[in-house]
Amino acid sequence: MTLRTAWTQARSRLEHAGVEDAALEAEVMLRHALGIDRAAFFAALEEPADAPGLERAVERREAGEPLAYVLGRREFYGLDILVTPAVLIPRQETEHLVDAILEIGGGRAGLAVADVGTGSGAIAVAAAVNLPACRVHATDVSQAALRVARDNCRMHRVEGRVELRHGDLLDALDGPVDVIASNPPYVRTGEIGGLAREIGREPVEALDGGPDGLDVIRRLFDQAPAALNPGGAVLVEIDPRQLPAVTSLAAAAFPGGRVAHRLDLAGRPRVVSVTA
Ligand code: SAM
Ligand code: GLN
Repeated sequence: MTLRTAWTQARSRLEHAGVEDAALEAEVMLRHALGIDRAAFFAALEEPADAPGLERAVERREAGEPLAYVLGRREFYGLDILVTPAVLIPRQETEHLVDAILEIGGGRAGLAVADVGTGSGAIAVAAAVNLPACRVHATDVSQAALRVARDNCRMHRVEGRVELRHGDLLDALDGPVDVIASNPPYVRTGEIGGLAREIGREPVEALDGGPDGLDVIRRLFDQAPAALNPGGAVLVEIDPRQLPAVTSLAAAAFPGGRVAHRLDLAGRPRVVSVTA
């Protein structure tokens, strides 16, 4: 079978399974199975293709698993991040949180950053790679997620500067930090069932923020003042609809602090920051 035929067959199976970008996903799966880049793929279309693992990958995708889980990776902040079904698939909108960390950390040696609810470790790794003098303390309640984060720290050679800790929110930190960053679970419990089918494959404890989506953010702001160095900042990813509520929580936790927000690529408020 030529590569072109294998591509056509995989594409048509994905189309039947309701995958939107079937042609692109079939190409990505084939390239992944063959270990080749895009140029090599298009140059080899008429060659015989033996793609071990492709059949299983297509089956998993047909059954509704997200592409990132099938491939075992997702690009985040220009970095290849390993993912398994134990972790949330890093989202593009979370890159704004990393931008905010780098803005604060650029030029400051020895910055201590906490990544609360690190999941795959995407934020912690992106911060550590881009701020070579910073130390990151990454926490999660999920041991399975922390194992994935450990693999990502090793893959990107930042395991010496990222400390992974198991525990609730800031409990696992040994001392105060300069930046507390978090993409916490913030989906309202009642809205989880209505999310896209693929999101249903992600760990519910990574998404569920309680009845109003703010349970974890509320607790984080309760704990943050005691865990922050003077002049430090808290950066939290939100659902755009949560801006007024989270702005109030931030202002209440840090009276006299400066509260601001950043927009995502769609122009919606996505990160709330408060500088103590
Ligand atoms: N930081 C990753 C990212 O942005 O891709 C994952 C974010 S995911 C939305 C939220 C993470 O917070 C999950 O890994 C979940 O296990 C973790 N989590 C939930 N409740 C927590 C808590 N009370 N303390 C620490 N981590 C928590
Ligand atoms: N952005 C996620 C979604 O797709 C929510 C992630 C979170 O709760 N932090 O709904």
